[in-house]
Amino acid sequence: MIKAAPENSIWHTALHNYEQTAQRLKLEPELKIKIQGPREIIETQLNPLISNNKLIRVTAFIVRHNYALGPAKGGIRMTPDVTIDDVSGLAMEMTWKTALIDVPFGGGKSGIRFAPKSITTEDKEIIIRAFTRAMHRHIGPEIYVPAPDMGTTQSDMGHIRDCISYSEGTAITRGCFVTGKPVIVGGIVGRTEATGRGVVHTIMTACEKLNLDINDLTVAVQGFGNVGSVAALEIAQSGAKVIAISELAGSLYNSQGIDVPALAEHVEKTGSVLDFPHAEKIEHDALFELDCDILIPAATQSQITVKNAPKIKAKIIAEGANAPTTPAADEIINQKNIFVIPDILCNAGGVFVSYLEYTQETQREQWTLEEVNQRLSKRMTQRFHDVYQYARENQLTMRAAAMNIAVDRVAQATIARGLLP
Ligand code: NAD
Repeated sequence: MIKAAPENSIWHTALHNYEQTAQRLKLEPELKIKIQGPREIIETQLNPLISNNKLIRVTAFIVRHNYALGPAKGGIRMTPDVTIDDVSGLAMEMTWKTALIDVPFGGGKSGIRFAPKSITTEDKEIIIRAFTRAMHRHIGPEIYVPAPDMGTTQSDMGHIRDCISYSEGTAITRGCFVTGKPVIVGGIVGRTEATGRGVVHTIMTACEKLNLDINDLTVAVQGFGNVGSVAALEIAQSGAKVIAISELAGSLYNSQGIDVPALAEHVEKTGSVLDFPHAEKIEHDALFELDCDILIPAATQSQITVKNAPKIKAKIIAEGANAPTTPAADEIINQKNIFVIPDILCNAGGVFVSYLEYTQETQREQWTLEEVNQRLSKRMTQRFHDVYQYARENQLTMRAAAMNIAVDRVAQATIARGLLP
């Protein structure tokens, strides 16, 4: 099932990147198989009763890819077409991301196959609670700790926590079962913004290395959800000019720069970027071909392909989304000498702050926004430097360097634990 994944699937991309890394690191065959995973795939059918007494059927998955370094960590994707292949590929990516950013977690991911925008918030809550009840025994601080991903939000994480504490008859949960919760029920300040903020930390560090002044640079952002909107707001605040932004509903362009806070307000009011008065509409595909310095894919997987890669003019690609670049497109981009900040580094800010939330809840601490942002900035910058240095010393791309560091850590932990079950 997983092996038959089509060429543009996340699983294909994740497996390709892993196999290349295993070859570079000369992993022993037994170790290579053990790390490849996934360790566990759980699929369930939910039958929640939603409004008007309508009983629906929803397929949901959890994949625990690897837990050599700690409990599996990774978000819940709620989209109408999410598959086990997607969730397995995303879970594998989480294994490398947590290892690279150096937090004591493994990699996991969940999928709920449903279109969240097609239902009311009340019905979404019913589906999230049905998922939590069905998957309760697979979720926990020592097993798998979910968080938001595409289609899920902070309030969904609040419902998961409530559902678990309700089942256990406790006011709080015993340890951290889920991250990305509302702050009032054990969440951490700054988690919602952490991924987008982390993306911008890596871009700023890349600019330093490449001797580029952020004030002279133009940016195009694909996706205006959690990651894309925060990245666009933060990079505009840092001095760059955001000239294009797209979401599923449409794409916008303004050569003089889009007023990102005004656009965010417009989206808050109307629910979409459409009809924003201070920019012109462009075709979706045009975003990748624009004359811009920095491209931030922050929407979904397999967006940079052999079709558009040859036309990309950006100097830097910062992968806010998971697996936005197919392996074949990656080769083209490398030949063009575009500087790529790979997803497992670029968007790792979210899981890093999730780790702070996990420790905050475990130790009943309270962190301030200043502390969270300082630690986020320090960790993202430090790990960027480590990957950059490794890449230079070993004449590798940033993606290959990041993968080598991450897979090597997982290999070391696997050897330390032993190959026997
Ligand atoms: P989201 O659901 O909040 O937003 C997704 C955005 O992408 C929306 O604006 C949507 O309209 C847009 N989009 C989807 N398909 C598109 C397409 N084909 N063309 C243009 N726009 C499109 O999701 P998110 O949480 O911002 O996640 C975005 C990406 O970042 C995903 O790949 C996710 O796995 C990754 N990611 C998210 C987090 C996090 O903390 N939320 C952390 C790490 C990585």
